[in-house]
Amino acid sequence: MRSRRKSGTSASRRRSAVKTKRRPGKTARNGQPSDAILVDLKHRLSEIYDLNAAGSVLSWDEATYMPVGGAAARGRQSALLGRLAHERFVDPALGKHIDYLEARAGELAAADASLIRVLRRDYEKAIKVPAEYVARASAHGSASYNAWIRARPENDFAGMIPFLEKTLDLSREYASFFAPYAHIADPMIDDADEGMTTATTQRLFAELRRELLPLVRAICDQQPPDDAFMRASFDEAEQLAFSLSVATQMGYDVARGRLDKTHHPFCTKFAAGDVRITTRVRRDDIGDALFSTVHEAGHAMYEQGVSASFEGTPLGAGVSAGVHESQSRLWENVVARSRPFWEHYYPALQKTFAGPLGSVPLDSFYRAINKVTRSLIRTDADEVTYNLHIMLRFDLELKLLEGRLRIKDLPDAWHAGMLADVGVAPSDDRDGCLQDVHWYSGRIGGAFQSYAIGNILSAQFFAAATGPHPNIGSEMASGRFDTLRGWLTENVYRYGRTLPPDEIVARATGTTLTTAPYLAYLRRKYGELYRLSQ
Ligand code: ZN
Repeated sequence: MRSRRKSGTSASRRRSAVKTKRRPGKTARNGQPSDAILVDLKHRLSEIYDLNAAGSVLSWDEATYMPVGGAAARGRQSALLGRLAHERFVDPALGKHIDYLEARAGELAAADASLIRVLRRDYEKAIKVPAEYVARASAHGSASYNAWIRARPENDFAGMIPFLEKTLDLSREYASFFAPYAHIADPMIDDADEGMTTATTQRLFAELRRELLPLVRAICDQQPPDDAFMRASFDEAEQLAFSLSVATQMGYDVARGRLDKTHHPFCTKFAAGDVRITTRVRRDDIGDALFSTVHEAGHAMYEQGVSASFEGTPLGAGVSAGVHESQSRLWENVVARSRPFWEHYYPALQKTFAGPLGSVPLDSFYRAINKVTRSLIRTDADEVTYNLHIMLRFDLELKLLEGRLRIKDLPDAWHAGMLADVGVAPSDDRDGCLQDVHWYSGRIGGAFQSYAIGNILSAQFFAAATGPHPNIGSEMASGRFDTLRGWLTENVYRYGRTLPPDEIVARATGTTLTTAPYLAYLRRKYGELYRLSQ
């Protein structure tokens, strides 16, 4: 998970104050040079950025420290900030600025031309959705989420049917604002992953499914490694300290961030100088806090690495959900579940938790953190089966949106899909179609594909980095990550949203999104772990 709110960034007050003095009057468009319009535009954007950031502070507090009694007021306060930011963003005056500067794009500096391109995209999307719809969908999203909080532990899918039916109607209505489209899910996918469509995602997933199914079968035919020692008793404070020390050694800058506890870990940005992560810790699971923290630190390092010159504008953020997820997955899986990484960190982990891990060899630990198993819960799934969980959800939401599957038939379709792809099926809906928050918080479509795109890109970026820098592996084995983080900053992070996602991928890796490096990574790593014939 990246952020609890729609992307929002914020400028420092000092920069806003400077801009306020130079803010042109209403006559600016009549004969004033385009830089006066640009200054006014950036001033407006920095205020919107700050409103969004203030909303993010409220959301962060809600998920970390707020007492339950604060919920009603907080909901009201968050909605107010969200509405103010939205109203300012869809202001026709801002649209006129975009029109004016777009017509003069040739005169603008490259970053400003990128800003206008990104603003045009965001603005067109924002003005197509009526405020009345936003209010209706947001109210329904909150009601549905609150109902789901109760329904999941009670295994009450029937109680959620009316909510989901309305969510499906609202999701279709949302898509209709962007008609014509090739597929009804396209507008939602484009929101998260610019440049991707239902068709391109389906092609990608078909390829992945074809390769993954035999791999999962070959692995799961074998005796699973013993990982009982992972569920001994581990002091919570020690787990948090160890996790944060790993994240900071990777490059997460705590002078511009902090770590707190929550139920569902996320990363949130209030400013370039304040990018926070959250984690959850369980005494009987050494993996949870550690890998959640590293995952969120991956998101945070991306945000901390965006060029500071974009602060206060929509350019100052990660480029897409899929590319963002590629960074959390790269640090969590490709780095922190690798053998070189643990060659360095395992002695320290053993020393910290001498009781449960003192006599467990490195190889056993490495096998345990990479155990592949046919499991029911997406968020607990291993690297090899994870994408099968995503594809099931993606297929089902397409069917729902296309009208080929009714909400009331979702549990049966889930059951059949799990059996066919993952090889196990849940005995109840709690561990089935009630498990993920996404469909229950107000939108069906456009979210799940980003996780799989992130997995695919994590290996593509890592392969592109290690090509010219084969020392990355040996650096990892000595607890150093400068070359890897430097490459990612130079080739991905610093751009923010100045280039579209597919262009960042192509420039960094020499090719567009491709499954080849990811499949090679899985075959190499798991072929070795499970001694598969290649
Ligand atoms: Zn994530």
